[in-house]
Amino acid sequence: MIIQGTNHTGDLRERADVVIVGTGSGGGTLGAYLAERGWNVVMVEKGGFFRAEDFTQREEDAMADFNGRRGLDSTVDNSVFLNYAEAVGGCTVHYWGDSFRTPDDRLERWRKQTGIDWFTASELNPHWDIIEKELGIHIAGPDLFNENNRLIKQGCEALGVEGHAVPTARIDCIACGWTQFGCAYNRKSSQLITTIPRVSKRGGRVISDARVDHIIVENGRAVGVEGTLVERKTDARRGRFRVDAEIVVIAGGAIGSADLLLRNFPRDVVGRRFYINPHYFVFADFGRAIDNQTGIPCAYAVHEWRQVQTDKFGRYQSGGYIMLSSHQSPGIMAVLLSEAGAAHTERMKKYHHLASTMSVIDEDNPGRIYIDGDGYRRTEFRVRGVDQLKAVDYLKNASRIFLAAGAREVWIPDIYGTIIRDDQDIAQKITVHSVQPNAQFTAGSHFLGTAPLGTDKADSFAGPTGEAHRIKNLFVADGAAVPTSISVDPSLTIMGMARHIGAGIHERYGRAGV
Ligand SMILES: Cc1cc2nc3c(=O)[nH]c(=O)nc-3n(C[C@H](O)[C@H](O)[C@H](O)COP(=O)(O)OP(=O)(O)OC[C@H]3O[C@@H](n4cnc5c(N)ncnc54)[C@H](O)[C@@H]3O)c2cc1C
Repeated sequence: MIIQGTNHTGDLRERADVVIVGTGSGGGTLGAYLAERGWNVVMVEKGGFFRAEDFTQREEDAMADFNGRRGLDSTVDNSVFLNYAEAVGGCTVHYWGDSFRTPDDRLERWRKQTGIDWFTASELNPHWDIIEKELGIHIAGPDLFNENNRLIKQGCEALGVEGHAVPTARIDCIACGWTQFGCAYNRKSSQLITTIPRVSKRGGRVISDARVDHIIVENGRAVGVEGTLVERKTDARRGRFRVDAEIVVIAGGAIGSADLLLRNFPRDVVGRRFYINPHYFVFADFGRAIDNQTGIPCAYAVHEWRQVQTDKFGRYQSGGYIMLSSHQSPGIMAVLLSEAGAAHTERMKKYHHLASTMSVIDEDNPGRIYIDGDGYRRTEFRVRGVDQLKAVDYLKNASRIFLAAGAREVWIPDIYGTIIRDDQDIAQKITVHSVQPNAQFTAGSHFLGTAPLGTDKADSFAGPTGEAHRIKNLFVADGAAVPTSISVDPSLTIMGMARHIGAGIHERYGRAGV
């Protein structure tokens, strides 16, 4: 059952075996897992509840209806746009559906770094096998490729660069191209149409428009949550709610969970590390219209440079990112371009000519999240040090791929209006100046690591089971729990970890035990 806080009059009180804060990749996966094993589940979601018919496929509606801070969130210095959803289904409502398993080398690094022994493919594969089946994850076929995807593939093949069709979470997709504004056809396998209905079917309640403010702790044990029911359009307070539960799971996303945990447990390690996978963008003009609106934004990804290469002295040489074929919506595109006035108009007129890619940088240097003296959440992130070199390497290699595919010119959307026509331009015009903070539009949409799992209590929020080191029966199961950046898109890692944590909760407490 969905209870929409925006329509609710008065206060609300619920009782559950488990209350889950957040309904995205982590919360949805864990909620369905426990509900289907007999747990009485209540899920609480700050954002609204939308159906396919509510998705207008218009950017301005999507931004206002379900983007965090209505599409206006950024780092404190405005150098990085923070793109995330607040809605039943979380970020999967507007995610693209690229679904990569965590690479083995990253699991191994985490195992050594955190002391958690279940960071192995053999532990996680059984969960991924099931999730992939449930979400219809399959390798994107030609029906999902648009011309942009095909050109990037062509450029990679011409250069002998490793790239692949992506595993994507959708069933019978009609390839309309507007996945990012919510799937209007119920074909993308967001949590909204997969796990959330399964929770409802088992008698679970999902309360939307309900912001959790307070985690109730008694005698060192979490026993429920309290918060505010909000008016969807205005965020005005409509009432209070409280959910009493034996187990409390925090899955508000790395930003939302950090915000909530910092306000409740200010002296913990929360928010000390904040990974975002910086996205830089490269555009190419082929001198003709390019179909980059239909299909799916990313049917093809470039993996050649996922791992960093160093020289014999350990100095950075190349890599540290994957490259996604990408589609930027008109509003974002308008912000991306650095020109003003007539020059900007001229560039925007080429919107339908532009092919594009986007970086997913596997950063070494995370940012941080904290609550300032006035009670505002502050998000700091700067692309710095070796991560700037990775960004430069991405801009160069993306340019090479487009030129190899036959682009007339490549646009680096920096404040210098850099145009690339050949290898000499690549060598001379793309430098660290291109990637200084605010030198070009940069975005983050993969938020991780703010309440990480680990065995070292001084350096992690929760232990191997997902339970907080210092508060019993309080678990974390979302992007916040992931130790670091992953080197690929994060949703399937988060879902696999959440399901693993859910299995541990079920095994330990069983339904009868709660
Ligand atoms: C445009 C876009 C495209 C993307 N495409 C891909 C992709 O193709 N592949 C991929 O792997 N990843 C993609 N991602 C990233 C991916 O969707 C997220 O990393 C992932 O869904 C995060 O899961 P989560 O459980 O950590 O949090 P979320 O999915 O963000 O869910 C957290 C939920 O908790 C709610 N919440 C937060 N605080 C509170 C509170 N105090 N009270 C109540 N509720 C609260 C939020 O409103 C939110 O709905 C994309 C992201 C964006 C923005």
